[in-house]
Amino acid sequence: MADIVFRNVTKSYGTTLAVDDASFTVNDNEFFCFFGPPLSGKSTILRLVLGLESPDAGEILIGGRPVNTVSPAERNVAMVFQNLALFPHMSAGDNVRFPLVERKVAEAEIERRAADVAAKLHIGHILHKPPAQLSGGERQRVAIARALVRDPNAYLMDDPISALDARLREETRVELKRIQRELGKTLIYVTHDQEEAMSIADRIAILDNGRIRQIGAPAEIYDRPASTYVARLLGSPVMNILKAVRGESGVEAAEGTLSIADRAAPADAVEIGLRPEDIKVRPWPNEVKGDGAPGRPARVFEVEPLGGYTVVTLAAGQARLKALLRGQPDIRPDAMVVISCEPARVHYFGQGGGALVR
Ligand code: ADP
Ligand code: MG
Repeated sequence: MADIVFRNVTKSYGTTLAVDDASFTVNDNEFFCFFGPPLSGKSTILRLVLGLESPDAGEILIGGRPVNTVSPAERNVAMVFQNLALFPHMSAGDNVRFPLVERKVAEAEIERRAADVAAKLHIGHILHKPPAQLSGGERQRVAIARALVRDPNAYLMDDPISALDARLREETRVELKRIQRELGKTLIYVTHDQEEAMSIADRIAILDNGRIRQIGAPAEIYDRPASTYVARLLGSPVMNILKAVRGESGVEAAEGTLSIADRAAPADAVEIGLRPEDIKVRPWPNEVKGDGAPGRPARVFEVEPLGGYTVVTLAAGQARLKALLRGQPDIRPDAMVVISCEPARVHYFGQGGGALVR
């Protein structure tokens, strides 16, 4: 068992509170991701798990055992550093074997484990080649194999693929996800890339200035962000967040931008959030019959076709909104359209940005 538990862990550097009263449990075999902007405390959390730093307050447990005073070596947690570069003068196979050779593991055991990890990563057929003869994707898999060949309680990865180009990043994250599932090991993964966090993790912890703002499965955090802070971090384009006032029959957003016919809207809502994909955009005049949603006029400000999707920026009332439409609808800049949003898709936030339940 290698679940990792933080109980009210705090760590400061001088006057900087790097980790502020953090409590979480990473389950055994879980792919757990810390996501937050630069300097939010992600790397410090990894160093605390690893034992390179000790907390000022609070308790850390690995596999049920308190480790505050346990040395990094005894914790047996493997850090995979940002740099996945291979040794160019060694074959792919020697690269993979290297961490075990370095630790003076018996030769038969080295061969067994290297073969095992090579099979899992589908690189058995390229182990004899030097890195220069491998494709970018193959090099990545070899580098990951080298990181995984040890058999630790848990792996930690600090933004391991941020240096790769976009296509290789997509490939590598799919590999990582599949490998983690097959290895069945606890993996704590740090990223500042929301798409990576969403796509790769079983659960995500959202960090803000050393504080954990929300923990949950990607879909859960996306669908039920606990605050405007979290809501703005996940989603592309980001959630539209508008000032709102509660009226008789619902909510009026940003002075004439949109009206939401939702009698169940919380009375203390001061902002509403609308995901771009939840904004309906209809031709002007509104000829669509029978869907009942009250629409408001909006002017198309700009259109960005992305192939499978189109981002439409709308000027409505006092606000600018972004809508995400499927395919390539026939919408031109400066055209008038009608916009609406299903009440059930609206997020309500109170004073201070906390999410409200309807
Ligand atoms: P992230 O990995 O999310 O970018 P870090 O954990 O590296 O964030 O940093 C969190 C905060 O702690 C930052 O304000 C950073 O400046 C500070 N910090 C991190 N390491 C040190 C250090 N060794 N000395 C002083 N301040 C540090
Ligand atoms: Mg960092």
